[in-house]
Amino acid sequence: MVFRHQVRWPSGLRRTPGERVPAFCGTGVRIPPSPDLQTNISKVKKFTLTHYYSFFSPNKEVAYILFKPSEFIDFAEGQFLLLEKDIDSKPIKRAYSIATTRSQLQKEGVIGTIVKRVSENGMSNYLVKKIQPKDNLKAIGPLGHMKLDENAQNLLLIAIGSGLSPIFSIYQALIEKNNFQKIAFLYWERTSDFLVPQVINKIKSFESTKIYNQFFLSRENKEGFQKGYIQQGLDSAIKFLGTNFKTYLCGKPQMVEDITSKLINDYKTPKQNIVFEKY
Ligand SMILES: Cc1cc2nc3c(=O)[nH]c(=O)nc-3n(C[C@H](O)[C@H](O)[C@H](O)COP(=O)(O)OP(=O)(O)OC[C@H]3O[C@@H](n4cnc5c(N)ncnc54)[C@H](O)[C@@H]3O)c2cc1C
Repeated sequence: MVFRHQVRWPSGLRRTPGERVPAFCGTGVRIPPSPDLQTNISKVKKFTLTHYYSFFSPNKEVAYILFKPSEFIDFAEGQFLLLEKDIDSKPIKRAYSIATTRSQLQKEGVIGTIVKRVSENGMSNYLVKKIQPKDNLKAIGPLGHMKLDENAQNLLLIAIGSGLSPIFSIYQALIEKNNFQKIAFLYWERTSDFLVPQVINKIKSFESTKIYNQFFLSRENKEGFQKGYIQQGLDSAIKFLGTNFKTYLCGKPQMVEDITSKLINDYKTPKQNIVFEKY
C-alpha cells in the first residue's frame, strides 16, 4: 500500500548545485514509528529494501546508498544486513553494515550502507554500478555483535576503507544523542578518490572541542589529510581520550588485527573494550 510521504532530504547531506530530491520520493511505504527505540532491539526480520538515492566517490567506486525499507527495523548502530539479489540469474547474498542511524530511519524513513566495488559481477558491482531507482532487494537483519554501547563516554572510532559503514553509523548516533565526553575518529583510505564527499563533509561538520578527527591517505598527499596509516595516529588519539575508552574498529582483516594488537600490547587497552568487525 502506498501512503503520502513527506519529501525530505537526508539530514546533514548537502546537495550539489542542481541536484534534486528524486521524483519517486513523493510516494513510499510509510514507516510506523517505533514505540520505543530503546527496547526491542535486534529482532531479525526478512524485509524488502527499495533503492532511494546514491552518493558517489569521485572515482565512482564507492557509493553511499540509501534505501527505503518495507517496514521499521529496530537495529543497533554497528549491525549489518544480509542483502540478496538475483545477478545474472543467480541469487547472491552478501553482508553490508548499516551506515545510518535508527533515528534517521524513524524520522526520514531511510536506511543506508557504504559500499566499495571489489568485483566485476558480484553484489558490490551491482550496488555501486548497476542499481536503479526503485530497484528492490531482499534483506535479512539486523545481524551482528557490533552494537553501540550507550554508556560509553570516551570512544575511539577506527574505520579502514569500506569499514566506514558501521563506524559512520555509530559516530552519527553518538552525535545525535550527544551522550559522550570525547570521540577520537581515525579513518584510512588509499586516495581521496575513494571518499564520498557527502560522508566526509558530514564527519567534518561534527568537529568540536570534544572531537578529534584524523584522516589518513596512504597513496596521496592532500591538504587536511595525513599521509600514511592509522597506526601513526593512535598516539595522538589516545592522548586526547585519556586512559579509559571504548574502541570500535572495522575494515580489512590485517589492519584490524594489527591495530587491535597495538592497542592491547602497546597501549594496555583491555580486550573487552575493543569491538571489531573484519571484512
Ligand atoms: C559483517 C560484514 C559486513 C560487511 N559490510 C560491508 C560494507 O558495509 N561495505 C562493503 O563494501 N562491504 C561490506 N562487506 C563485504 C561484502 O559482504 C562483500 O563481501 C563485498 O562487497 C564483495 O562482494 P561481491 O559479491 O561484490 O564480490 P565477491 O564475488 O564475493 O568477491 C569478488 C572478489 O573480491 C574479493 N573481495 C571480497 N571482498 C573484498 C574486500 N572487502 N576487499 C577487497 N577484495 C574483496 C574476493 O576475494 C573475490 O576475489 C561486509 C562483510 C561482512 C562479513
